[in-house]
Amino acid sequence: MLPKFAYIRPSKLDEAVTQLRQEGSSVHAGGTDLLGCLRERIIDSKTVVSISGLEELKGIKKTNDGLQIGALTTITEISEDSLVKKNFPGLSQAAAEVASPQLRNQGTIGGNLCQKPRCWYYRGEFHCLRKGGEKCFALAGENQFHAIFGHNHICAITHPSDTAPVLVACDGVVHVAGPDGNRKIAVKDLHVLPQDDVRKETVLKQGEIITHITVPAASAGHYSSYRKIRARRAWDFALAGVALVLTMDGDRISRAAVVLSGAAPIPWRSTAAEEELKNKPLTAQTIAAASAAAVADAQPFSKNSYKIEMFQGVLEEELFKAGEKIAP
Ligand SMILES: Cc1cc2nc3c(=O)[nH]c(=O)nc-3n(C[C@H](O)[C@H](O)[C@H](O)COP(=O)(O)OP(=O)(O)OC[C@H]3O[C@@H](n4cnc5c(N)ncnc54)[C@H](O)[C@@H]3O)c2cc1C
Ligand code: SF4
Repeated sequence: MLPKFAYIRPSKLDEAVTQLRQEGSSVHAGGTDLLGCLRERIIDSKTVVSISGLEELKGIKKTNDGLQIGALTTITEISEDSLVKKNFPGLSQAAAEVASPQLRNQGTIGGNLCQKPRCWYYRGEFHCLRKGGEKCFALAGENQFHAIFGHNHICAITHPSDTAPVLVACDGVVHVAGPDGNRKIAVKDLHVLPQDDVRKETVLKQGEIITHITVPAASAGHYSSYRKIRARRAWDFALAGVALVLTMDGDRISRAAVVLSGAAPIPWRSTAAEEELKNKPLTAQTIAAASAAAVADAQPFSKNSYKIEMFQGVLEEELFKAGEKIAP
């Protein structure tokens, strides 16, 4: 059952920011994650502030520098938008992989970036470290769907968003309005590692609202893709996923971004794989080296070492696919 809370639906952004300044108030966008979190007492809110009436936070447009995506744009709109499909196919593919059609129609991109993790201890009745308890139950427990990177043996959630890895790979930036004014945060800096603060998922402060996301224009020779492996064909979070952005200069890769999903508590940038790709042609040898490098420093637990081969295989497949599509 949902607990009792006050519900406010301001029609102006500054009103929403003012309401959200109060400790114990939460942003409500599509509500697909928030309502579950309130019901499960993961979030304890006295006031829920709906931003759904803020028209300026909706829609996708082309700007001089690239694309601007309002935080209230639905995941379906992103997956179907022709500008996104043309400029950043990887983002469109990632959006299409999110949840189910109903959830994509209701869920927004802002909420997708800020959603809470799906660890079953956290969502269940376990007072674990992330909820302020004493220990992480996953480290020596049922960790088959947990992280193999970035957990530092503190908390092994995997970051749940499918769109965030692509936005990291495309150098996306979130624009935030808050009590101290507006600020910009690179999507790569939005999420928090357990070693920095195990209680927080994003660097957003109380009262801050993501208003929109910008993605710089794709340069010539730009290729992007997203691939997700899940346990079930129906809706499910990523067991292993890869967001890939390559910029080609002739037959060589001038820029490579490899960001893994289902891998770590944040979208996991594999700089080791990127180093193996940079300034090289996309040959079988380069692909093998990059895919091996991506998993070289994995730290699996007792039940999730299968993810190592899975990540290596999925990256290899995605790079071969890229090679076929961008061959000069
Ligand atoms: C059954 C199920 C399956 C799912 N499967 C997937 C999946 O496969 N892949 C995936 O990526 N996601 C998945 N999700 C998550 C879903 O995509 C997200 O819940 C949705 O995108 C969140 O958007 P929302 O607008 O509903 O957010 P809300 O539920 O309204 O909010 C989610 C969180 O973000 C905060 N928030 C929302 N908007 C803003 C904003 N503009 N600024 C600051 N904070 C904000 C809220 O306070 C809240 O904490 C699933 C969810 C469910 C329930
Ligand atoms: S992985 Fe994180 S969220 Fe899950 S039980 Fe451990 S501390 Fe809690």
